[in-house]
Amino acid sequence: MSNTKTFTKDFTLQEPICDEGIEKALEILKSGKLHRYNVDPGEKGETALLEEEFAAYMGKKYCLACASCGSAMYLALKSAGVKPGDKVLCNAYTLAPVPGAIENSGAAIELVDIIDDYTIDLDDLEKKAMAADTRWFMLSHMRGHITNMDRIMEICNRHDLILIEDCAHTMGALWDKKKSGSFGKVACFSTQTYKHMNSGEGGLLVTDDPDLIARAIIYSGSYMLYERHTSRPGMDVFESLKTMIPNYSCRMDNLRAAILRPQLKILDVQCERWNKRYRILEQGLIQIKGITCPKRDSRENYAGSSIQFSLINQDEKTIQKFLARCKDQGVELKWFGNKEPVGFTSAYESWKYFGELPYLANTKRILATMCDMRIPLTFTEDDCKLIIKIIKQVAENLLK
Ligand SMILES: *Cc1c(COP(=O)(O)O)cnc(C)c1O
Repeated sequence: MSNTKTFTKDFTLQEPICDEGIEKALEILKSGKLHRYNVDPGEKGETALLEEEFAAYMGKKYCLACASCGSAMYLALKSAGVKPGDKVLCNAYTLAPVPGAIENSGAAIELVDIIDDYTIDLDDLEKKAMAADTRWFMLSHMRGHITNMDRIMEICNRHDLILIEDCAHTMGALWDKKKSGSFGKVACFSTQTYKHMNSGEGGLLVTDDPDLIARAIIYSGSYMLYERHTSRPGMDVFESLKTMIPNYSCRMDNLRAAILRPQLKILDVQCERWNKRYRILEQGLIQIKGITCPKRDSRENYAGSSIQFSLINQDEKTIQKFLARCKDQGVELKWFGNKEPVGFTSAYESWKYFGELPYLANTKRILATMCDMRIPLTFTEDDCKLIIKIIKQVAENLLK
């Protein structure tokens, strides 16, 4: 049936680690000094340097490097003061590590609905924020879609909500010229392979709050070596905390930090490269009948490492056919409407460990037709054009 070339590249293949990172990593391997506290007196290790540099990049006072973004989110919740049984508001469209971090803190989750542009429903948020026992708000900028942060901050201020940002998909992104992750009391980023910087696994937590960072550093497993952190407040802040906070061992090591530091230097350039590809795909997708790409706010400066679109009004069978035919042509799409969680996607119904969760009609309806595609930088702009050609041909033959 097809006369379009098949796409043959791998949707999970990232670019190699740059030479500077590899050389530094080899140096560390040869020295054997992989642990972040394995430094000479006065020497700043790679992990401490990465923290200084990421804090500076974010315009934040402090940064802590962690084993993963999931562990950073857990430490953020604990260090901000979330107690077992507290309620944490969270948008229902997000990924499994987010509810996982909330559960790990002992808190209960209060899911907030989403709207058709895939962002949180601000009216539902406001309604749920009014409950007297609601203090915490984990906002996940899922797949890099940033909601109106001015309204978020108004709602947080009006209802005394403490905002924790999950920026796993917004590293390098901005809302109205302000960096995503600089709005909340604390924000968490991922350096897992499929995000914007790649160290296999890893997370970064940023904040301006001296007490919060001191807690997070101790929680992360600093033993009594927190003095070796250089992105931290004065030693006096740790004094009253050091025996009151357990060690959860969520540290990053020097090897990973070493390969991240050169990546941070080119992060903005990489984001521009992602966005070039994103715009080609978006421009192509919006012209295909049956496919909708929500319009993004002009104040949103995203870091488009993936793209989402909806097959509105299509039934499950048609969507499955659409996905299968795209796959036959080498175009690997994910679908958030699956009954069973598959791969990296999972819908909120599969977070059964929380017990009964509310039925969110809009989230259900929107996820039922939402497709998702990775945009690794190993794809060229021509690759993106071929992908559009394939999707267009499948859609024209299938979608009414
Ligand atoms: C990947 C991801 C995380 C967690 O990152 P890890 O580093 O894998 O723990 C959190 N939130 C979202 C939305 C993610 O996609």
